[in-house]
Amino acid sequence: MKIVRIAMSAAVMLLPFQAMAREQADVLIRHATVVDVEHARTIPDQAVVTRGDRIVAVGDDAQIAKAWRARRQVEGKGRFLIPGLWDMHVHFGGGPALIEENKALLPLYVAYGITTIRDASGDLPYDVLKWRGEIASGALFGPTLLSSGPKIEGIKPVWKGTLETGSEADVDAAVAKLVDLKVDFVKITDSTLKPDLFLYAVRRVRAAGLQVSGHIPAAISIGQAVDAGISSIEHLSYAYNAGVKDEAQIAADIAAGRISRGEARTRIDAGFDEATAMQAYRNLRDHNVFVTPTLNIIRTLAYLDSEDHSKDPFLAYIGPGLRATYQWRVERAANATPEQIEARHRGYQRDAAVLPLLEKAGVTIMAGTDAGFLNSFDYPALGLHQELALYVQNGLTPAQALTAATRAGPAWFGKLDRYGSVETGKQADMVLLDRNPLEDIGATQTVNTVILRGAVQDRAALNRLLAEARAKVARWDASAAK
Ligand SMILES: [Zn+2]
Repeated sequence: MKIVRIAMSAAVMLLPFQAMAREQADVLIRHATVVDVEHARTIPDQAVVTRGDRIVAVGDDAQIAKAWRARRQVEGKGRFLIPGLWDMHVHFGGGPALIEENKALLPLYVAYGITTIRDASGDLPYDVLKWRGEIASGALFGPTLLSSGPKIEGIKPVWKGTLETGSEADVDAAVAKLVDLKVDFVKITDSTLKPDLFLYAVRRVRAAGLQVSGHIPAAISIGQAVDAGISSIEHLSYAYNAGVKDEAQIAADIAAGRISRGEARTRIDAGFDEATAMQAYRNLRDHNVFVTPTLNIIRTLAYLDSEDHSKDPFLAYIGPGLRATYQWRVERAANATPEQIEARHRGYQRDAAVLPLLEKAGVTIMAGTDAGFLNSFDYPALGLHQELALYVQNGLTPAQALTAATRAGPAWFGKLDRYGSVETGKQADMVLLDRNPLEDIGATQTVNTVILRGAVQDRAALNRLLAEARAKVARWDASAAK
């Protein structure tokens, strides 16, 4: 009979497939909706297979489940799988007494879905470099840590943990030392660094094959820093400056000592012009200069007058020494005049308004918070989610915000071949969310499971990390109270 023959041949065809031994993997995530951040779309009912720290297969759940078995299964039904989040601007510091408190921040990042952080230098650079190695070897639990090591500065700078430079030879020696330390990029700050040396340092770092970022001296225009080869601009205020009509003239006037900083400030405040800005931003795009907004710290500090953070639940995760470094800004805010308060509010609005213009010009925006010591209530880990919410509040789509936190960092480091998507061959750094972040960026806070270098941290494990972090802080508080 015809019908029987068809049924039999189908059975015969299926037989070798069913008998085929399924390949062994470490983790199998079933029935997840994968968020393709690059194309701002979701792919339903996917299975993702990892082995070691790599994704080895992604595809339709039924197909993948037939071909693979794993030691650990994760149920992704009704959930959304995104690549691990990156915070591209964090700090560790506050002096040697706070080493343990800083180290205790590392698991918090993981608990909030952040699988990579870029340390933009603090006063504990050699400890951070040590942690970087320990995390990579598995001896220390934390997100992948990319660090600038000690920053390049001038002589006797306000910042500690620096390589002080007063001449081109000093800069050459500093760059050679940083290359020796195998830093992931170089950070330059300008509290006492001479403007010419700043530009020289940027050129030398790029010649050494490293990315370079920093605070641009007032006596230098953004265009000059771009021409020298700066790879990213930190803080939106510098991007704002690039949109000021006679920014280059103001910088030159400062350099020549013709005007005071105060006069420069007044002219910068009044001089923003959208056409100038768009031209400057297209120049950033053309030179592949990325911008890290750090909006969360700018906003938090601008509204310290009216927002009381003393009861923030997240303070339970911040050690007493680090909390003490928050205090100076609280006091400054308490003593501010109405004019100063108004100016801070305006400053935030002004900087935030730059964000959509950068996006429109095609500049790559890297999500970064500036979280760490000194930066009051801009919390490590939680801060990145607040940062992303601010991007959407200020005109980015959720997909653009998510791109800033998953793809821009890898792109800046030239690591998009390994990070930034849930695809075969990529690093097994992923976050399973309860809700769709393309619909509401707040969904990044609904972390169900984190896969870090192939290791599964489910909600119970993440809660344990958080409980341990709180307990540590409680112990430090108790001994500080004695
Ligand atoms: Zn910073």
